[in-house]
Amino acid sequence: MHKTPGEVWTNCLKIIRENVNEQSFKTWFEPITAVKIEDNVLTIEVPSQFFYEWLEEHYVPLLRKTIRQELGVNARLEYRIIVDNGAPGFSVDAPTNVQQPQNQPPEVEQQPEFAKTPVDPIKNPFVIPGIRRATVQSQLNPNYTFGNFVEGECNQLARSAGLAIGNKPGGTAFNPLVLYSSVGLGKTHLAQAVGNFVKENFNNKIVLYVTSEKFTNQFIEALKTGSISDFIHFYQMVDVLIVDDIQFFANKDKTQDIFFHTFNHLHQNGKQIILTSDRPPKDLEGMEERLLSRFKWGLITDLGVPAYETRVAILESKMSADGIELPREIVEFIAHNITTNIRELEGVLNSMKAQAKLSRNKLDLAVTRKIVKNFVNDFSRKISIDSIQRKVCDAQNLDVEELTGKSRKRKIVQARQIAMYLCKKFTDHSLKEIGKAFGGRDHSTVIHSCQTITNLMDTDRDIQDTVMSIQRQLQMGI
Ligand code: ADP
Ligand code: MG
Repeated sequence: MHKTPGEVWTNCLKIIRENVNEQSFKTWFEPITAVKIEDNVLTIEVPSQFFYEWLEEHYVPLLRKTIRQELGVNARLEYRIIVDNGAPGFSVDAPTNVQQPQNQPPEVEQQPEFAKTPVDPIKNPFVIPGIRRATVQSQLNPNYTFGNFVEGECNQLARSAGLAIGNKPGGTAFNPLVLYSSVGLGKTHLAQAVGNFVKENFNNKIVLYVTSEKFTNQFIEALKTGSISDFIHFYQMVDVLIVDDIQFFANKDKTQDIFFHTFNHLHQNGKQIILTSDRPPKDLEGMEERLLSRFKWGLITDLGVPAYETRVAILESKMSADGIELPREIVEFIAHNITTNIRELEGVLNSMKAQAKLSRNKLDLAVTRKIVKNFVNDFSRKISIDSIQRKVCDAQNLDVEELTGKSRKRKIVQARQIAMYLCKKFTDHSLKEIGKAFGGRDHSTVIHSCQTITNLMDTDRDIQDTVMSIQRQLQMGI
């Protein structure tokens, strides 16, 4: 007496159900149908290649055990994968089957309009349920382009890699492209610029921008609603996938798992992946090693802190986009004082715009200083010329008399310049007053000192470290 494939599989499901949790059962086993049984080979149909890979990776021992229990020690399992364009299915070997697959998967160009499976239409997690066959919305901000991404030494490599990708998505050595930097230095802008560029130049390519949080939430939602295969299908259709701020994947094992498989699928199919992170991948804790090792396949590069000239160029570019004009000295003042975050440069400009509108005030240096002070941490109250001089002397092993005296020794001159720079940055004293506190020096000497240190900060790591360390101590009131 022969059992039908359905009967065999129903028995298998009983065993499986006892061995996996409810959610996994619903997600990975319920969608399977048994289609054929021949001797001791059971053929099951799974919704996608991804599904097959997932089963293979996570459930081989269980499947093997189950099928043997049901059909004997020589039992084998064969998969049939439903191909998304409705082309005939193909078989691949089951994990328990030692033979090579007979057919290779046909190349499937997956366009949202045509993508369909015999079992279930693809749902786009980005559109309101019920609206079918919506084209994929890229979720890109059209304002982030290469055109308004100012080039500087800090972003040269990342930018040119981005451009290369834009011209040949998936076809360069930069796959994945992993951009990292601290906040406000242009990761999102650059990653989206690539996306916008691709969209403009290849209108048949599907570009998708998603934050890691959104990806995670969609995944959780898909698990809840039992629509995991839609989720997977959706992500597999994408030609350029941009995932922003992947540090939020940390310690989310299941999300990392599904992302890992998505990554593999896209990469294997020559699709482009762009990722951003707030730290170098090697410092990402709570991330699976196998995922981190994939990142090394492409290019990992950082976006540095823009040099003074780049900061001025960025300010000028934003001003011209916004139709604002500001005197040169104001632009320079902002660029001198906001040094580590481009978002803050923009923030100052926005506040200046608002201020000008509100009070019809002339935007002079005094107004600018006030605004800038809100962006630089609020430490200026407690910091005095005196405390700066003492702190710099402590750090450099000098007496305050030497600092304010006449010596032209290189070490002393540099310490003096650092101290003046910090006085300008952290106190409200005028250049004249600062000069006076340094042995009656001229205001132009103070300007020169500030400029020298600002420039050195961009080019000399030691100076940068020294100044930052003194600055930190001042800020913390140590
Ligand atoms: P991140 O993602 O690294 O936190 P963003 O990409 O959000 O930084 O950038 C912060 C802001 O600075 C954005 O408004 C962006 O347009 C702007 N910005 C960053 N880099 C540049 C650049 N090179 N040229 C022009 N604007 C930039
Ligand atoms: Mg960002």
